[in-house]
Amino acid sequence: MFANAALLLALCCGPAEAATESTSGFASSDNFVVYAPTQELADEVLKKSEQLRTKLARAWLDKELAPGVGVAMIYVSLSLTEDTGFTWPKDDPAKKYHSVTLKSSRDKVVGVTLAHELTHVILATEFGGRLPRWADEGIACFQNDQELRNSLRESLRGLSRAERWPSLEAVLRRPGNTPDNQEFYAVALSLTQYLLELDEPSVFFQFALEGKDQGWEHAAQRHYKFRSLEDLQQRWQSWAVKSLRLAERRAASPIGIGSARSSPAPAP
Ligand SMILES: [Zn+2]
Repeated sequence: MFANAALLLALCCGPAEAATESTSGFASSDNFVVYAPTQELADEVLKKSEQLRTKLARAWLDKELAPGVGVAMIYVSLSLTEDTGFTWPKDDPAKKYHSVTLKSSRDKVVGVTLAHELTHVILATEFGGRLPRWADEGIACFQNDQELRNSLRESLRGLSRAERWPSLEAVLRRPGNTPDNQEFYAVALSLTQYLLELDEPSVFFQFALEGKDQGWEHAAQRHYKFRSLEDLQQRWQSWAVKSLRLAERRAASPIGIGSARSSPAPAP
């Protein structure tokens, strides 16, 4: 559990060390500049990044990003013991590029860790860094592997069992520069999954952007027809409890149990 918690903390955007290991590999395109320990790895990261840019933008934004918009520098180093990723979005007109640093196994720097960070890149490119932190991480955590998602689900289960649900108002208002913990990621992913079961991603993004600028209660009423923020809080908690029970039954059933509702999200 502790290892997973450390892993999750490291997946957030925030200050980090630059890659200091050998970066003799270099590859670039209109959209990415990649530095990696070997040429073969740089080429593979670039190829995978281009595929993810198309796939993630289609999935979440229902379109493709124009070539050359939101260029990201990606610094890759390999590690058998660490799995960390950081994204510094281009959040100022004076900056030219997004910046991503990855340190992980070979599989993950062309897989889940790359996908999580490129989700941040794509959202920052589309929304110019205006997306609130919970929504940014909630969407990016869809790319986490099963081990991390299971760990987040256990954190949520812990909150549920202890009846220690966080105030959604505090979660929704959480500033971007606040240090995060595993419970924040668990709540951000669960709330994001719940809202995406109610309506399309475009509505989710409208809610997130408008809530941040004009107030969460107003946005919850307008975009999801909740009576109030407290109404959203209660309905999300009820949904989360049911989802946790369903996941528990699925895990206990050798033949599996289907869900009555389909979702693009993994089970929380
Ligand atoms: Zn993240």
